Amino acid sequence: MSQTLYYSTNLTADKVSFKDALLKGLAPDGGLYMPESIPAFTKEEIKSFSRKEYYEIAFDVARKYLHDVIEDEELMALVKDAYNYDVPLEKVYEKKYIMHLDQGPTASFKDFAARMMGRLMQYFLNKENRNLLILTATSGDTGSAIANAFYGLDNIKVIVLFPEKEVTDRQRKQMTTLQKNVQIISIDGKFDDCQAFVKTAFNDRDLISLNLSSANSINIGRLIPQSIYYMYAYSRLCSVSKGEKIIFSVPSGNFGDLMGGLIAHKMGLPLRKFVVATNKNDEVPEYFKSGNYKTIVPSLNCISSAMNVGHPSNMARIVALYGGVMNEKGEVVKQPDMNAMKQDMFTVSIDDKETLATLKMVYERHGALLEPHGAVGWAGLRHYFKFTPEEHDTEQVAVSLETAHPAKFPKEIKNILGFDPELPISLKGLEEKAEQFVKLENNYEIFRQYLKDNYQ
Ligand SMILES: *Cc1c(COP(=O)(O)O)cnc(C)c1O
Repeated sequence: MSQTLYYSTNLTADKVSFKDALLKGLAPDGGLYMPESIPAFTKEEIKSFSRKEYYEIAFDVARKYLHDVIEDEELMALVKDAYNYDVPLEKVYEKKYIMHLDQGPTASFKDFAARMMGRLMQYFLNKENRNLLILTATSGDTGSAIANAFYGLDNIKVIVLFPEKEVTDRQRKQMTTLQKNVQIISIDGKFDDCQAFVKTAFNDRDLISLNLSSANSINIGRLIPQSIYYMYAYSRLCSVSKGEKIIFSVPSGNFGDLMGGLIAHKMGLPLRKFVVATNKNDEVPEYFKSGNYKTIVPSLNCISSAMNVGHPSNMARIVALYGGVMNEKGEVVKQPDMNAMKQDMFTVSIDDKETLATLKMVYERHGALLEPHGAVGWAGLRHYFKFTPEEHDTEQVAVSLETAHPAKFPKEIKNILGFDPELPISLKGLEEKAEQFVKLENNYEIFRQYLKDNYQ
């Protein structure tokens, strides 16, 4: 097997190795890195997952890409260390499940990607005695997951930008109470502004000496980890021998989670459908309907705040996966195979009212506790079943992703259900810790000066 190379979705940058794609983040032509070919599992391999632990499946998936860059033993140790927590599959009714991706150290699904990416970066940097400054923007949960995953590492510094008014107190405290090599900056703007700062800084010649790297959902190092839990859920709930296919519902913002699922599908995951559920930021559902992609600027504020994205960065990758080209502005340079996309995905936009009604309904009818993002996913699944009633079969396995712990959204839960969700261990004790962060205006020049003054 020869080494997989990674190309840029803008198609004008050189192809690079996994290590370079991981440490660079964004390609020099502004595109996102994609594997040139996606390795596939045999049916036998997928069958074997039912006998394996989560981290062993993680090893098998990662090894398909990394077999010639990391020794097996190192890789096994790395995934075992990264995935030392549970991935509960909760039965809601019949064969309809919620997969709880909220048992990691920051109680959101971002931990899955951040922990593995952090360890991969550390592996390569240690080997070469290099340093990096990770610059990342967060709409809520990425920031704390990244900050946590990199916290205390010697050769990596981290800066996290967040929109001052768009994250919850708890989300903010999960980042601002860490300190050490982690600097948190609030921007008086929206998530999209933070993300634009990150992108501009990467292309800023004045900042080259900083050795900037990204840890956003644009980094290839996050996609591989985000395809593992799809394989895991299938292995626990479905049978390859019986030819069973699975439905996943994915609450989506930047579409990194979904992109992981699409990669899993390319690797052989027997798929019935991805239900792609967004909040009122419905640029992708609209694109599926009309074939015209129009970014939403500024993005709309919804209670599922980590999904308030008006131009998902991973769209360029999804378009590339289906043979098209989309540039970083969101212009479709070459239309992808829309029919194939619709074959794999059902898209739907869910408003806040329905999100809250779903949260309440799922709790009262089934006793399952969700938070707003997971509720968007569940609502999306209900739309899909309404749209295709024949799929709502008692034997059909469907899994809706719960992407954060309900305790991260105490106000919403209290308002609608009347109680305070219990904190997971990882979130206890935050209130007492001291916060430290820098507040900056929504002005790139000021941000650049800050970087030069503090990191150059
Ligand atoms: C980031 C996030 C999402 C959206 O995931 P994407 O990969 O950006 O689509 C959903 N829910 C929560 C809680 C998140 O933090």
